[in-house]
Amino acid sequence: MQRTTAMRRRTLIKLFSGALLAAGVGLRGRISRAEQRVNPEDPAARALAYTQRSANPDKTCSGCRFYANPGAEWAGCSVFAGKQVPAGGHCTAWSGRT
Ligand code: SF4
Repeated sequence: MQRTTAMRRRTLIKLFSGALLAAGVGLRGRISRAEQRVNPEDPAARALAYTQRSANPDKTCSGCRFYANPGAEWAGCSVFAGKQVPAGGHCTAWSGRT
């Protein structure tokens, strides 16, 4: 009987530890994704008049050759290396896909 209780306790501790680890990894992923987004107030972004909402629906990041994944809501942009921009964004470096 005591052995069964100890086993249950160990199992619960393992499950709880796993849940904590999973929650930590998920939070870390969300933080790092947020950090990777281009801040419109950054000097490089301002220099290119970067905006998260294009004024012209025909010239958005998702249609730009520098946008890494046209099907994604946010994706990398080779002009802002290592950072992401939204599909509906725009900057003066826009160049259509050929
Ligand atoms: S270069 Fe400009 S328009 Fe093109 S994907 Fe990057 S931020 Fe968007």
